[in-house]
Amino acid sequence: MTSASTNDIEFRSVAKRYGAVTAVSDINLQVPRGAFMALLGPSGCGKTTCLRMIGGFEQPSEGTVFISGEPMNGVAAYRRPVNMVFQHYALFPHLDVEQNVSYGLKQMRPRIAGAEISRRAQEALEMVRLGGFGKRRIHEMSGGQQQRVALARAIVNKPKVLLLDEPLAALDKKLRTAMQIELQTLQRELGITFVLVTHDQEEALSMSDFVCVMNAGRIVQVGPPQEIYDRPASLFVADFVGKTNRISATVDGNASIELANGTRFAAPAINGTRGAAMVALRPEAIRLTRNGAVSTAALAGTVTHRIFLGSAVEYSVAVDGLGDFLVTADRRTLGDSELVEPGEKVGLAFDPNALHVFPA
Ligand code: ATP
Repeated sequence: MTSASTNDIEFRSVAKRYGAVTAVSDINLQVPRGAFMALLGPSGCGKTTCLRMIGGFEQPSEGTVFISGEPMNGVAAYRRPVNMVFQHYALFPHLDVEQNVSYGLKQMRPRIAGAEISRRAQEALEMVRLGGFGKRRIHEMSGGQQQRVALARAIVNKPKVLLLDEPLAALDKKLRTAMQIELQTLQRELGITFVLVTHDQEEALSMSDFVCVMNAGRIVQVGPPQEIYDRPASLFVADFVGKTNRISATVDGNASIELANGTRFAAPAINGTRGAAMVALRPEAIRLTRNGAVSTAALAGTVTHRIFLGSAVEYSVAVDGLGDFLVTADRRTLGDSELVEPGEKVGLAFDPNALHVFPA
């Protein structure tokens, strides 16, 4: 991910200011050709600003955005090999599906022959599995279908890069999950670079090859989804990507760690932390043990709530001296008969290597 020639998109020391507001700064990012990159972060962290600078709708205040190795300073949006799919699709309600898809092709100069325009629009509609829908009006299409029309319109002129700004935000959960799979499949089929903006961590993890986590106008971690989840670089990432338990602790000179309730562990990964620390522990890394079976447990507590999620069960456990812990139990390892009742005393067992230690 270093040389410009293998990257489709590169940000070099990019900052963007709006008057006194710094929207993003110190952005250095490479998106390899043909990769699916998600920009993930809370509202206002600068995701859309970065996307708009790739698209050419905004110009950096500092630094340079490259597309296929070419600096884009001063290059107008319509001259970039890039298309964008917006959250609200921005379809033309008075045109039918095919006219929506072919609109951009009709504006192109030199002109493209009518038969060719029609052929390409059909091809794009088939790519998004809307082959027979060309003559439908937009209001006759469901939310998910409108989403696909917007996608077809964005891929019809074969851009090198597709920018997606929260494209699934308007869909209900089930449809969104289905479209996540479709989008990923489409990206593989087309082989073009996708950059997706989302504040939904599940969406980012499930769809992309790389996740770029942003906070307060800066990039805080970039990597494959599993790496982001398993080895968060900061407490912010651990908290924002997936659920996590936070535990106050102290790291001593021998790299052993003492939790706020006095429980000690020998040297988990402490990330160079000394002194006051904050520990992150994933809910699914904890196993509940019952009654007498506390020999392997590191902590003791009492179940206060149980949330049945279907495929899993979430427990809230009040741990002596440390407050409430969230514990997720997988149904495959915990049959119905093993559901723990609120009020029960339990042990919390985990591998000390599952503790992620950060400076407090
Ligand atoms: P969201 O998920 O809410 O869309 P985001 O991560 O996409 O958020 P941006 O839209 O990129 O965030 O905004 C980043 C920061 O820049 C915010 O503080 C925002 O208020 C500010 N900002 C964005 N556009 C403008 C503008 N045109 N003028 C002034 N400030 C702006």
